[in-house]
Amino acid sequence: NRKILLKSRPVGMPDESNFEWVESSVPEITDGEVLIQSIYISVDPYMRGRMSAAKSYAKPYEVGEPFMGGIVGKVLDSRNPRFEAGMYVEGRLDWAEYNVSDGSDIRKIHPGRAPISTALHVLGMPGLTAYFGLLHIGQPKEGETVVVSGASGAVGMIVGQIAKLKGCRVVGIAGSDEKCAYITDELEFDAAINYKTAGNLRGALKEACPNGVDVYFDNVGGSVTDAVMTLINFQARIIICGQISQYNLERPEMGPRVMGQLLTTSSMMKGFIVSDYAEHNKEALTQLAQWVQDGKIKYRENIVEGFENTVDAFLGLFRGDNIGKQLVKVGEE
Ligand code: NDP
Repeated sequence: NRKILLKSRPVGMPDESNFEWVESSVPEITDGEVLIQSIYISVDPYMRGRMSAAKSYAKPYEVGEPFMGGIVGKVLDSRNPRFEAGMYVEGRLDWAEYNVSDGSDIRKIHPGRAPISTALHVLGMPGLTAYFGLLHIGQPKEGETVVVSGASGAVGMIVGQIAKLKGCRVVGIAGSDEKCAYITDELEFDAAINYKTAGNLRGALKEACPNGVDVYFDNVGGSVTDAVMTLINFQARIIICGQISQYNLERPEMGPRVMGQLLTTSSMMKGFIVSDYAEHNKEALTQLAQWVQDGKIKYRENIVEGFENTVDAFLGLFRGDNIGKQLVKVGEE
């Protein structure tokens, strides 16, 4: 049973030296426990925060302890009455090929309804993040302009599609021409801007948003957000979902101060954590599943094969390797 531990806390961009690989035998279970074989491991930007000792909403990983996060797996053996061998489950588990759970941190998933990997994307944490952030905080109305950064990623691609379903003009910001083509051609966003090549980002945004910006769903922060903030309309809603451009900085970046913009436009800016809305998970997942089933929401997964590639897939998030949800396939269904 291979497992990945945090070896040291990174300064700046993490690399392979911050991770340690250990191997042990497949664990035994006792009464109440379930043995799970990992099939898909989710790698997520927020895990970078957990590699640091700084206090945040998710508790830091301890040095010498395993990485953990969303995993979809198969029950191999169970001594817990709620689970039986052959079932598929999703939960917060160690980055390992096999895990033991007492059942409290896993949920059953139904392979007949949607591919099991979707429990880590559109029908899981990133889908819920898009849904709650956009609908509960952003409250987009028909005809409004919604801008989303990190637009071709796991969360961003769902945000834009929900905004389209609500009748909005949707503009995505992403880091390559291929990503921009994907969100406009396949997902039918109204416009896309490659922030790496746009040059004058504000100018490009202004052209793409002739009526200004009513809702901004921010996944990245930094200079991208600075540019969007200059174009917000009266009573705009700014949703702070992520700040990935800042996660690997050794020193916080100073930028334009946006408080004046919030004041003069009477706008609202709000951060959130997906778990804030956990009481609404069931209704949100039902709606997301319906949209997927009706073909109204598409999803894309960037799947890397092999447990040995897990760390590199995680680091790839910060290089922008992924279009859609980054997953690692480590076992057969
Ligand atoms: P993504 O699938 O979007 O993957 C990360 C993407 O971020 C990369 O592909 C890359 O795309 C982009 N990126 C990387 N570095 C930078 C940079 N320096 N500047 C701008 N963009 C960059 O990840 P997720 O969809 O899983 O997460 C998106 C954001 O949402 C993250 O910030 C994450 O922390 C946050 N999040 C917040 C949650 C909450 O509860 N608040 C829950 C889940 C996620 P590109 O090529 O476009 O640069």
